[in-house]
Amino acid sequence: MPQKLLKTAHYIELGNYQHWPVLIPQRIRLYTYEQIPLFLKENPYITDGYRAHLPSKLCLKSIFILSNETVNIWSHLLGFLLFFSLGVNDLLSVLPASGANREDYVIYAIGLFCFQVCMLCSVGYHLFSCHRSEKTCRRWLALDYAGISVGILGCYVPGIFYAFYCNAFWRQVYLLTVLSLILAVFSAQVHPRYLSKECTSDVVIFPVCHKSFLSLFQLFLPRVIIMYLIAGSAFLFYVTKIPERYFPGQLNYLGASHQVWHVLVVAMFYWWHQTAVYIMHFRHSQSCPAHTTRS
Ligand SMILES: [Zn+2]
Repeated sequence: MPQKLLKTAHYIELGNYQHWPVLIPQRIRLYTYEQIPLFLKENPYITDGYRAHLPSKLCLKSIFILSNETVNIWSHLLGFLLFFSLGVNDLLSVLPASGANREDYVIYAIGLFCFQVCMLCSVGYHLFSCHRSEKTCRRWLALDYAGISVGILGCYVPGIFYAFYCNAFWRQVYLLTVLSLILAVFSAQVHPRYLSKECTSDVVIFPVCHKSFLSLFQLFLPRVIIMYLIAGSAFLFYVTKIPERYFPGQLNYLGASHQVWHVLVVAMFYWWHQTAVYIMHFRHSQSCPAHTTRS
């Protein structure tokens, strides 16, 4: 390392490992599973690399150190940048080239905004989960759950819009339902009453909504099936804690289930966005049957 860099490099303790150089002016200690507060103990197979007891400022600075949350933070930060760039690309290039109308623009903007909110809530939680206040940590956790609901519901907006493209009444009914669900779920999950519980509404909303309009997706069934496969495997990694349960202590920094879950969530949203573009092209190329109402 050059002399100049060495001067600014500080060292962090990496649990039982060794000292790593980091380019931040504070020392941030990492802890083992046994050393962290009870409210942080949720995965015994991740045995080391925990940040804990930090004030907000140091939580933020810990983004630049190697901890067991580094991949979780950066995967969704990059996910946010991906969906932000996709949004800009859609508005400036994809939608104008597809002859999109005002509704298409609104639908894409809402869908991608939901994905971005989901990514940022997750980044926030993984950054501030090490906060010294349990209340702050729980608030961010609630926001992370709320963000997942918003992201999933963001999938429904283009889905419903293009599924019911030729049926103005049901399109409006479903879109209004979904938009009010977004608001209801979001406010319920960030409400203090729910802060101590894990919220299951994501799982509940998922099949209820899908059942009602899956039949309309017959034309695009392979794409819908792939979407469900990604969502299903993401959820499976999330709940089973595979693979770290078979390699406790060996996947603390890379390869843990939560990291796989993060990557699959980004892949799922990306896949669904591409599917929406595909279905939009299809809808624009066909005219609606005579007995239906487009608007
Ligand atoms: Zn996460």
